[in-house]
Amino acid sequence: MNIVKMLIFILVLILMCGSVKANEISVESSVQNELGFFLCLEDGFSIKYTAVNKKSVNKISKYLSILPAEMKKGIEEIVLNPEKNGNVAGITKNEVIYLYDYEQYDASTQKYIILHEVGHIWGNHLISMKLLDYEYTDYSEAVKKDNNYITEYSRKYIVNKQRYSEDFADAVAEYLLNKDKFTKKYENRAKYIEDLVKSHKEIERKEFIECMKEKCKFLEYLANRICQMVKMKGIGNL
Ligand SMILES: [Zn+2]
Repeated sequence: MNIVKMLIFILVLILMCGSVKANEISVESSVQNELGFFLCLEDGFSIKYTAVNKKSVNKISKYLSILPAEMKKGIEEIVLNPEKNGNVAGITKNEVIYLYDYEQYDASTQKYIILHEVGHIWGNHLISMKLLDYEYTDYSEAVKKDNNYITEYSRKYIVNKQRYSEDFADAVAEYLLNKDKFTKKYENRAKYIEDLVKSHKEIERKEFIECMKEKCKFLEYLANRICQMVKMKGIGNL
C-alpha cells in the first residue's frame, strides 16, 4: 500500500469513528459477544444489552447526559440483564452496573434507578481517590446535621446497619434530578456533594498538570538528545 492509499485509509477510519461517536448510539454498529449480549460503546464506558433491552440503551444515554463529567469517571460498563433478580432493580459491583428487567419500570423510576447506581459508582471512585472513607464518615456528619432521611430504604441501612452508602446513592440521584428542591430539604448533604465535585475536579486538574509536566520533561530530554547528536556530528551549535 503506498503512502497516499494509507492516508486515505486512515482518513476513512477517522470519519467512521466520528459517526459512531454521535449523540445517538448507533445500534447497528453494535456487535454480539459470546454471552449473547450486544455491546454498545458509549463515551468512556460500554453498555451490554440484549434485543429485549434495545430501547433502553438510548434512554440510559439520555439519563446519564445530565451527569457532571466527574460522576461518569468510574463507570466501566452497564449491563442490561433481561432477567428479573427478585426485587432487585440494580446492583453495582466494582465499576460495573447491573440492571435487571429494566423495561418493567416507568421512565421516572428508570431514571432514579440508574442515577442511584451512578451514586454508588461515584462513591467507590471517591474512596479510591481517598476523598471518601469506607464508612462515609464525613458524609454521615452532613446527614446528621440535616436530621432527616431521603427514602425508607436508605433509612433502614442507617438505623439498622449504620451504613451511609445507600443514603449517599439516593442523595446523588435526588440531587441530579432536582438540585433546588434537594438543596432546600437536604442543605448539608447538597453542600457536601458540591464540595466533593469541586475536590474531584481539582485533583484531576492537578493530575493533568503533572502529566503535562512529565511530557514536557520527556520533550526537553528529546530536544537535548537531538542537540547532542547534532553537535557530535559537528554540524555546529544550536
Ligand atoms: Zn443502592
